[in-house]
Amino acid sequence: MPQGTSFADADASYNDADFCLYGIPFDRTASFRSGAREAPAAIRRASYNFERNHYEHGRYDATLYDYGDCDDFLLSSDMMDEVGFVMGPAIRDRKFTIAMGGEHSVNIPIIRCFKEKSIALISIDAHLDSRDEYLGCKESHACITRRAAEHLGLDNVFVLGVRSVSEEELDRDDPVRFIDSYEIMENGIERAVKKAMESVKCDGIYLTLDIDGIDPAYAPGTGTPEPFGLTPMDVKKAINLMGDRLVGFDVTEVCPPADPSGTTSILAARMIKEVIAVKSCES
Ligand code: MN
Ligand code: MN
Repeated sequence: MPQGTSFADADASYNDADFCLYGIPFDRTASFRSGAREAPAAIRRASYNFERNHYEHGRYDATLYDYGDCDDFLLSSDMMDEVGFVMGPAIRDRKFTIAMGGEHSVNIPIIRCFKEKSIALISIDAHLDSRDEYLGCKESHACITRRAAEHLGLDNVFVLGVRSVSEEELDRDDPVRFIDSYEIMENGIERAVKKAMESVKCDGIYLTLDIDGIDPAYAPGTGTPEPFGLTPMDVKKAINLMGDRLVGFDVTEVCPPADPSGTTSILAARMIKEVIAVKSCES
């Protein structure tokens, strides 16, 4: 495919691919500023910025297939049906799926493609996203860890980098567990990731990266920027520490209209490449 229409190096067929990429340009439940629907195209463009092989990971041969984008759905129920329809088979075929949101709600149907209680979800996010519902919507970006806990079990969900939580999320018997960004700054990302990996029950880890988990100084182009966040190096280290336990990845909440320099899309593309490199090198 010509540059710009698929992720860099995504030249394999579905059958030959170890990695399947999917764009989900959905931002209809965005609460502050929308525009995440433009992110898959911006992240794919940014992916051509990088060498196939990374300096620190050496040579690796990854086979990538890019589905392109799903439609720009108005209703989250339609988006969720389509994501399940497309990604379900890939996950059952044991492909490593990488999704590009869209807002964070795109994670909900992906997690439901995995068998109940078969994997753990670790989220990197400024927000806990653990509300029962938000603005009358249960499939909101603000509810993704609650929906994951219902499917995977509360003990299989953990969030890193939180620094914005509502009272209703903490004042309950079953809060979603997290380590805040201040503790990570104090004690280091290694300790936090190890604690998260020891705390979850399942071995396989699906990592969801809400780009606002990273400090807005590095990732300004997002819907709800929140100061005092993680560094890109923290996230890179987290990916490397999870290493062979990773079973899937998505990056969400990149908002190109708020990202005139393109920095945030470049960072998202590089994190995708990091995951591919880490998974390719260990296998
Ligand atoms: Mn967030
Ligand atoms: Mn989020």
